[in-house]
Amino acid sequence: MPISEIITIGTELLLGEITDTNSTYIARTLRDYGIDIYRITTIGDNPGRIASTIKEALKRADIVITTGGLGPTIDDPTRQSVAAAADRGLVFEPDLWEQILERFKAYGRTPTENNRRQAYIPQGAIKVNNPVGTAPCFIVEIDHSCIISLPGVPKEMEFILRESVIPYLSQNYELKSQIIKATVLHAASIGESMIDEKIEDLEQLANPTVGLLAHPGQVDIRVTAKAESGTEAQKLSKPIIEELFSRLGDYIYGIDGETLEGTVSQNLNQNQQQLALIEFGMNGSFISRLNHGQPNLLKTQIINTHTADESDFLKQVVEFQHQHLADIGFGIALTVNDRVTVQLAYVDSRKSKLITRSYGGPKEHAHLWAQNTGLDFLRRQILNI
Ligand code: ATP
Repeated sequence: MPISEIITIGTELLLGEITDTNSTYIARTLRDYGIDIYRITTIGDNPGRIASTIKEALKRADIVITTGGLGPTIDDPTRQSVAAAADRGLVFEPDLWEQILERFKAYGRTPTENNRRQAYIPQGAIKVNNPVGTAPCFIVEIDHSCIISLPGVPKEMEFILRESVIPYLSQNYELKSQIIKATVLHAASIGESMIDEKIEDLEQLANPTVGLLAHPGQVDIRVTAKAESGTEAQKLSKPIIEELFSRLGDYIYGIDGETLEGTVSQNLNQNQQQLALIEFGMNGSFISRLNHGQPNLLKTQIINTHTADESDFLKQVVEFQHQHLADIGFGIALTVNDRVTVQLAYVDSRKSKLITRSYGGPKEHAHLWAQNTGLDFLRRQILNI
């Protein structure tokens, strides 16, 4: 499969004045055609640095795509930089100049002498039609590699990539239309580093890849497979997903769109169990998350005071459960002081449990962490795991 690199050109990108969306678009497009992308570089409007960046990229890649810097002004440096990287001169192309004149006429504008610069392209370059803008684009072929220079304006670049560049690449390289299929397993009550330790070898795989993304109180494990069809991708992912389940067991609470609150609600509904729930210090956010899934089975109360005395909290939860004749009583109390802690109390006919967990992450994530920690504790108690 061909290897590519993308170089986005523009000092305003480096200064953070505009966000580089071109490379994302190109990367996604190339990926769908099975073209590997090894590097994305952003470089300012400096001809010397652009030329050496392109030259370096050509040592590694078959396809180097640049965007930007094709305008008519002196600080639009791509033409001369590509010519320098390819060891060629720039030549004036009268038919390109004709096209530029026509485009200006269509827009009711008069070109300046500067616009003539745009009719210069590296010697021997293939001209790429740009029906959506004035900057001519081009492809310079060097042995089996090529440099493809596209405009910076996203709409222009996207059109030319789709209409001209992909057909060119399909003709000159062996491309494969590839499907990327991602499956996300959600885990809780286990930290990212612990998961990392258990599945380190799987994280080294090339296809499918396995990656971790930590959220407050919850970790996602993403399995991404590349193949020529969805079925093929699924076939690649299946044994890895099974292996993840066997190593992480019931820490995994759901797949893809499944949520912690959904899993808890589903279990309560299945068992026809009624839940009486007390919440402290969370502005009703825990109740509202759980309420979503099963409004009929929930009796709730937000309490305004909470003592650090653990047995008091458990007593309060038991009383509330009795008062509502609920099958399960559950209490969650979040305290954000110097330390962030959450108290979790659970009671049903067979057991009662009270635990305290603390959080070392950023305080602005304390609520989300407490919700996830509470929901997973509740899930584990209901399922007896
Ligand atoms: P023009 O002929 O319009 O001058 P150009 O090829 O010279 O086109 P630039 O002048 O580099 O392109 O960029 C034109 C505009 O396109 C920028 O002002 C910016 O708004 C947008 N642009 C350039 N590069 C990117 C990028 N990598 N991602 C998103 N937008 C970009």
